[in-house]
Amino acid sequence: MERIKCVAVFAIFFVVFIFGSKAIDNIIADELINRDASILSEKLIMYIRDSAEDLRALPALDDQFECTSETRALLRKTIFQSTFIRWTAVMDNLNVLCSSEDIVRDYDSLAKHKIGENLNMAVMDKDDSDLHELFLSHNSGQLKYVASIVPMNPRYFVHVYCEDCLEYTITIDGLNDNLAAVPVLEFGFDEFEGAHVVTEKITHKNEYYIATFTLSGNEEYLAQYQSLNWWVSGFISFWLALGVAVAYWYWRNAYGSTRSHIRNAIKHNEFIPFFQPVINGNTNELVGVEVLMRWRQANGDLIPPNQFIPFAESAGLIVDMTYSMLDVMAEDIHKMGHQVKPLFFSINIVPAHLHDDKLYVYIKALIASGKLGQHRISLEITERQPITDLVKARQMLDYFYAIDVDLKLDDAGMGYGGFSYVQKLGISTLKIDKAFIDTIGVKDNFNEKTLDAIISFAKKSGLSVIAEGVETEQQLTYLKTQGVDLIQGYFFSKPLDADDFFEHYSSLVAS
Ligand code: C2E
Ligand code: CA
Repeated sequence: MERIKCVAVFAIFFVVFIFGSKAIDNIIADELINRDASILSEKLIMYIRDSAEDLRALPALDDQFECTSETRALLRKTIFQSTFIRWTAVMDNLNVLCSSEDIVRDYDSLAKHKIGENLNMAVMDKDDSDLHELFLSHNSGQLKYVASIVPMNPRYFVHVYCEDCLEYTITIDGLNDNLAAVPVLEFGFDEFEGAHVVTEKITHKNEYYIATFTLSGNEEYLAQYQSLNWWVSGFISFWLALGVAVAYWYWRNAYGSTRSHIRNAIKHNEFIPFFQPVINGNTNELVGVEVLMRWRQANGDLIPPNQFIPFAESAGLIVDMTYSMLDVMAEDIHKMGHQVKPLFFSINIVPAHLHDDKLYVYIKALIASGKLGQHRISLEITERQPITDLVKARQMLDYFYAIDVDLKLDDAGMGYGGFSYVQKLGISTLKIDKAFIDTIGVKDNFNEKTLDAIISFAKKSGLSVIAEGVETEQQLTYLKTQGVDLIQGYFFSKPLDADDFFEHYSSLVAS
């Protein structure tokens, strides 16, 4: 067992470490790539903004423009003073009227995309390079100043240690012109290879356009970021894996030890019955008993059910505990039960008890053994837990009904089944929860009306009613006026151990 636990802890550590580092690696790489995409888009916007300022600073052009040596000097001076402009010209529609350098280009595609007041942007492919040429033009009357911008290679700004692994595109969707989204720039690596395994998009919007900056990389590009961070993700996932493994270790120890503790207690008959009387409130006569489990530990400590039953139910141990307690109960009744007249002994069951015929076989054998004497067994099932297969449960219950074991609905009005359980399961008795009894005498209490409704429903349906948790005379009186005769609660008695129960009630109800 210990060995299995150690192997499980090690396996959890290993799996969390491996998958954790991979996941953290991806998260960090993704973050870094996103940051790079933002850097690139901000740089480009800065290029354009600064260059546009430089163009706007030039003197206005008039229709009688002439290309003089002063104009050329002014255009050259602009290049000298500007950080990003490397060529300037004055143009009319498609013709260069004057330029800083005489370089021949095909200007057909210029001035297509409006990106600001009197400001346009265009891109031209370059035959001799995988970089594109970016132009800005600033309209001044009928003419315009045009500038070629220094190419922005992503490598200048972000880490790229691989060839043809990155693509960086900018698409401009003009809001005020009729152009659909147009890719204005495809920077970088025309020979992009492989699939896009990572893509980050950043959008900028102003009153003229929406620009979408897309950075895409292939496996090689992603790997280069991942390898930058392997020690960070390794470090984080090491501690994460350690934390998960330690938490699992503690959980196994706590859970496993309670479990084995309970198994041990079953073996040593530590789950014993306490008996709480159900009294006829009109005659003060004892009519039956609810059997309530207690855990009497080896040192004599008595543990109440709310401290172990929820765990036992979730750990699937409650069924075996019930058998263990019933063994003790059968012995108690066998030893002392002859002192009292016939009673029902109600035991609490859970839906799992109806999943097979084990309980039925057990109780049938118990009845046949004669240990119960003149007494009867009754089952209580709570409405608080749902019964998933009502048809199967009913089939099993019919076997019980055939041997005179009836079914009471515990916590009636508090749970899932509502009153559909009554019909579908063949309930004989409703046990009204203490929560409703507590409302007796409380003015304008909604639950008191519910109490009355439950009682009236029970009467109309021919069901018996047991009021649980009755503590005061006032509650007893009210219940009696409502026709509820069967009372269980501290007003008459707390749950008692076998000795006390049989001693107290033998004289009271001796036959
Ligand atoms: P329950 O079935 O609703 O049992 C009634 C609970 O109300 C018992 O608590 C009982 O002692 C308490 N009670 C009865 N009259 C009064 C009263 O006048 N005032 C107050 N304050 N309490 C009253 P107990 O024995 O602590 O049991 C708690 C719960 O544990 C039970 O609620 C039942 O759900 C569960 N339980 C007990 N024994 C078993 C068992 O053998 N099997 C299963 N599956 N559950 C059990
Ligand atoms: Ca009960």
